[in-house]
Amino acid sequence: MPNSIYVSRIAPHYWEEPVISGNKGTAAVFFTGCPLDCIYCQNKEISQNNHGRKTTVEEISEEVQLLIDSGCETLSFITPTHYIHRVIDILEYLKPNIPVVYNTGGYESVETLKTLEGYIDVYLPDLKYGSNQLGKLYSGVDDYFDVAKAAIDEMVRQTGKPFINKNGIMEKGVIVRNLLLPNHTRNSIEVIEYLSHQYSDNILFSLMAQYTPYGKALGHEKLGRKITRREYEKVLNIFENSMLEGFSQELTSANQSYIPKWDK
Ligand code: SF4
Repeated sequence: MPNSIYVSRIAPHYWEEPVISGNKGTAAVFFTGCPLDCIYCQNKEISQNNHGRKTTVEEISEEVQLLIDSGCETLSFITPTHYIHRVIDILEYLKPNIPVVYNTGGYESVETLKTLEGYIDVYLPDLKYGSNQLGKLYSGVDDYFDVAKAAIDEMVRQTGKPFINKNGIMEKGVIVRNLLLPNHTRNSIEVIEYLSHQYSDNILFSLMAQYTPYGKALGHEKLGRKITRREYEKVLNIFENSMLEGFSQELTSANQSYIPKWDK
C-alpha cells in the first residue's frame, strides 16, 4: 500500500461486543479495502469497491482524539491489515489512553503481527472457517484456516488472557468471532470445537448471527438466505456446552440497518 491512507468512516460505533462498545461507543476507524474478497461481504462498498477518502496520519489522529474526548471508551481499527505500517504511525502520534482494538478478518501473517506487539491491547479477529476449502470457495484465498490459526496463536501470545475492567471494558485479550452462515452449521461447530480445545478460557468467543445475503451472495444457492432459528439454536447449544466464554448475537441482528453509512 502507499503511504496515503484511505478511510471510509471515522465515527462512534455502538454495535460491537459490549466490552468493546461500552456505553458511548468505540472510536471506530474503518479503513478502505480488505485483504479478503468474501462473496457475502456486507461492507463491500468499502472493502471491495474502495469507497473512501484520502487522509493522513495527523488528520485521522485528530478526528479520533475528538471521539476520545467525547467519551468513547475504546479505539477500534477496523480492517487495518493492509495499512499496518500507518497504524503504528497513528498510534505513535496519538498515544491514546484507552484500549486499542484491532478488528480483522483473521487473514494476517505472523511476521506482520509481530510488528504490532505492544501497540494493540485487544485483538478481535474472525475465524470464519474451520477449513481451507471454504476460504477458497467464499473468500478467495487458498490457505485461510492455516493462516488464521497461526495469527490467533500470535495474538493470544501477545495479549495473554482476557481482562475486563470494573467498568466492563476489555483492556487486554482476544475475542474470536465467527459469523454463522446459512447451510453451514457444521463449519461454525468445527470452529467452536477447535477454539474450545485449543484455547478454552484464554480467549473469548463471539457467535455472530447477523448474516443477511448481500452483494454476490444474493441468489446464491447456499448463501442466498438468512440463517434459520433451528440453525442458530443448534450452533448456540454447542457454544454454550463448550469451554468457551463470550457473546452471542440475537437472531434479530440479521438486518441491513446494522450496516453503517459509508459517508467517509
Ligand atoms: S474480511 Fe470482512 S470486510 Fe473483508 S471482504 Fe470479508 S467480510 Fe468483507
